[in-house]
Amino acid sequence: SSTVVWFRRDLRVDDHPALLAAAERAKNGLALYVLDPRLLSVAGQPRVRFMFRCLRALDAKLGGRLMVVSGDPVDVVPEVARSVGASTVHVSADAGPYGRERDAAVERKVELVRAGSPYAVTPGRVVKPDGTPYRVFTPFSKVWREHGWRKPADTDESTVDWLEPAESEELPDVEPLADFYPEWEKFRDERLPDYDRDRNRPDLDRTSRMSAYLRWGVVHPRTLLAELGDDEGARAYRNELAWRDFYADVLWHHPESARQNLDRKFDAMELDHDRERFEAWCAGKTGYPFVDAGMRQLLAEGWMHNRVRMVVASFLVKDLHLPWWWGARHFMKHLVDGDLASNQHGWQWAAGTGTDAAPYFRVFNPVTQGEKFDPDGEYVRRYVPELRDVKGRAVHKPHDPIVDHAHEREVALARYAAIKS
Ligand code: FAD
Repeated sequence: SSTVVWFRRDLRVDDHPALLAAAERAKNGLALYVLDPRLLSVAGQPRVRFMFRCLRALDAKLGGRLMVVSGDPVDVVPEVARSVGASTVHVSADAGPYGRERDAAVERKVELVRAGSPYAVTPGRVVKPDGTPYRVFTPFSKVWREHGWRKPADTDESTVDWLEPAESEELPDVEPLADFYPEWEKFRDERLPDYDRDRNRPDLDRTSRMSAYLRWGVVHPRTLLAELGDDEGARAYRNELAWRDFYADVLWHHPESARQNLDRKFDAMELDHDRERFEAWCAGKTGYPFVDAGMRQLLAEGWMHNRVRMVVASFLVKDLHLPWWWGARHFMKHLVDGDLASNQHGWQWAAGTGTDAAPYFRVFNPVTQGEKFDPDGEYVRRYVPELRDVKGRAVHKPHDPIVDHAHEREVALARYAAIKS
């Protein structure tokens, strides 16, 4: 007998509950990945390349037996299952709106067996005593910790006997993906102790850089959680992983919040739609050096430091008065860790339209944020070559700014007051 393991956001073989479930069901398994044009068409270069790097690494672990097929999974997956005589398809559950709909459609044609999810606690599990979902992070995180997570599943590449695929698309020749573990170990041993203090400093590069591995499921969060102690750094890190679960939970309960304000009161907010200003922001040419450095880091590397994500997002919403979803779309296109839940709700946090904690009237000042978190200007000089000769923190001074922050701040606050009244 045989089965199919359909990989999606779980591109690994270690600690993989769906592999375990597949092995229990059948002797042989076909490993499948579907290149879905609907997802690929909106993705930028760094993002697609990173995905291919993950796929190549997975294929190598599977002894070259990963079957890669382009097409609509709703057609492809049942067809592939039929071709190997499999009556079941094993997956890790997808909690996002598109994935849930897609899986429901696949399920009408072939039996889908879900085991595990990309989160420590499966979205929907952490609820208030009255059974309703949390909308505020702190109480969620407390119950999340108390709920706990399953022990790592004991799986590796030999858990299932992999079938040779009849045909498979060739994966492009991309640079090999570095194993996450040495990177994690280095972070855990050298940076985690001071993580709470240093994580806001983009010039120092002191965060774990696990986000893209987590996004593609190269590592599961419980693998990282299992290695955390109880000192300040570990607690702060656990809290960040809780944010990831929290946003997935919010999206699970409110799938529509991927596209619209979680707090519908903000639908009445007056917005601008200036394409030229938007293009300047995307290109990292706003004249605010800290903002420009972040936007250029995104284009160059497909990643941006969290503090800078918050500042550039605030700038788009509160200095340019543009819809947050314009910025969110640009991020999703370029971020190698682009994740609908974390991204859309990170944006709604910045816009003040999402979960409770971020009042709209908190407007980041892009200059003082730079001076505070990039005190010597190292970060700006790294990404904005035309400012390389400016010494020290003077580099944060706006040059030819497209808007005046003090003025736009007043405009943002007035518009906020208008919807509040
Ligand atoms: P670390 O500081 O080492 O954190 C460890 C892990 O915790 C991260 O890998 C991530 O999985 C999780 N995490 C940390 N901060 C957050 C957070 N605020 N929300 C959710 N999870 C968090 N993160 C994404 O993974 N994908 C996104 O698309 C994304 N979009 C964002 C958009 C905006 C506007 C903002 C403000 C934040 C966004 N984040 C997103 C959260 C955060 O910026 C990144 O997770 C972080 O910068 C990744 O770097 P790291 O792995 O070195 O983080």
